[in-house]
Amino acid sequence: MKVYFLGTGTSQGIPVIGSNHSVCKSIDPKDKRLRVSVWITWENASYVIDCGPDFRQQMLTSNCQKVDGILFTHEHADHTAGLDDIRPFFFKQGDIPVFAHRRVLDNLTKRFDYIFENENKYPGAPSVQQIEVVNNQPFTIGNKTVIPIDVLHGNLQVFGYRIDDFAYLTDVKTISQTEIDKLFGLKVLVINALRIEPHDTHFNLEEALQFIEMIKPERTYLTHISHIFGFHAEIQKSLPENVFVAYDNLEITI
Ligand SMILES: [Zn+2]
Repeated sequence: MKVYFLGTGTSQGIPVIGSNHSVCKSIDPKDKRLRVSVWITWENASYVIDCGPDFRQQMLTSNCQKVDGILFTHEHADHTAGLDDIRPFFFKQGDIPVFAHRRVLDNLTKRFDYIFENENKYPGAPSVQQIEVVNNQPFTIGNKTVIPIDVLHGNLQVFGYRIDDFAYLTDVKTISQTEIDKLFGLKVLVINALRIEPHDTHFNLEEALQFIEMIKPERTYLTHISHIFGFHAEIQKSLPENVFVAYDNLEITI
């Protein structure tokens, strides 16, 4: 299985529009971060987790040729705002399967009514196939089982996903022991770490490192990074040897 980091930035991306912050001005390509998303492939299968406002650019840069489905973590705009740009995939493939919590499907139905409605559709509007994700009910994509991981982003429920020995968790602030128990024996964990300072709805670095210490995956990649976290190279130097700061267009094999 291959995991391609399409984006690793927090909601505004890096650089932030109009910002003169030194990280926003950095010339290191690893300091340029689009909104968080990963592209997962194996054999003939091709899935993305989330579909943020940078989706079009991410699909072009990664040269993604098809999307068998989109797994949504939650409804926030930095994870969903690019949904209209599934059109080229819809034209080639037909209805695109979208996997999400019922609440997220309802939210997207409101915000993208022209995509979700079935009658009097504008010709050229894309269509999706809705698949509700329910906690404690693993589901199948291609020939693989996905285990939903139920976490909290402040007060908002968010799904993380485990596929084989890979787990992707973003926008986590709290996680119960029952959900932690689903995460042992991982080869690769992706977890959000916003910055050094604490934040109300996101893990900071210290919380992410404590979580990693508890789960003990073989390797961990940090994502959903804010510009105020610092330069990629500087953060990387401060981390334990099996923990890495993810960066856009990084591809790993599991
Ligand atoms: Zn987010």
